[in-house]
Amino acid sequence: MGTIPAPLETFSASATDPILAWRTWTLAGSRDLGEVRLLPIAGDGKPWPVRDPARAACRRPPRHHIVPGFGCRCGLHATRAPAPLRRTRDPAVLGTVALWGRVVEHEHGYRGEFGYPQRLRLACYLCFWQWGVPGACEVVARRFGGRMVPLCGPHSELSLRYGFRVGRLLPAHHVEQALLSTYAVDVLRSVVPQR
Ligand SMILES: [Zn+2]
Ligand SMILES: [Zn+2]
Repeated sequence: MGTIPAPLETFSASATDPILAWRTWTLAGSRDLGEVRLLPIAGDGKPWPVRDPARAACRRPPRHHIVPGFGCRCGLHATRAPAPLRRTRDPAVLGTVALWGRVVEHEHGYRGEFGYPQRLRLACYLCFWQWGVPGACEVVARRFGGRMVPLCGPHSELSLRYGFRVGRLLPAHHVEQALLSTYAVDVLRSVVPQR
């Protein structure tokens, strides 16, 4: 994501139908889980809207262009397969996303104008980074400021043992349920692409 050379881009011919692709997000939430939001890994950190499509914007000066633009980095990023997402920095959620409107296709995936998550699951970023699977999360560490870090059992134990300040621990299934009901989507059961 984000490291794709521009010359290989094409305008996707299937942009009239939504494209199903993969992406990761970070996660933030209130203590009581009354408010849980997906946030982009990179970019301006604005949460993805709830029950409303996310819409891409370009902030690159000096002049505006149609979003997403060729040779630019703007647009809602998603990959064709989950594997490349393993390299994203500290993901908290892995899922599928529908992209539509204007969609630019490149070597590893897409940059779309509109998007909405389809299936989501919490991801232990350490498992995902090490093995390419999101890991079965047991707890979510809620840090000061509301940033949420899902962890599997072994990795949460390891974090505690090495004195990593995990913050307040919440049961992962409560956080996942709050996330799914907030965005009104289903859980992602498998990391095999669903068509
Ligand atoms: Zn742009
Ligand atoms: Zn783990």
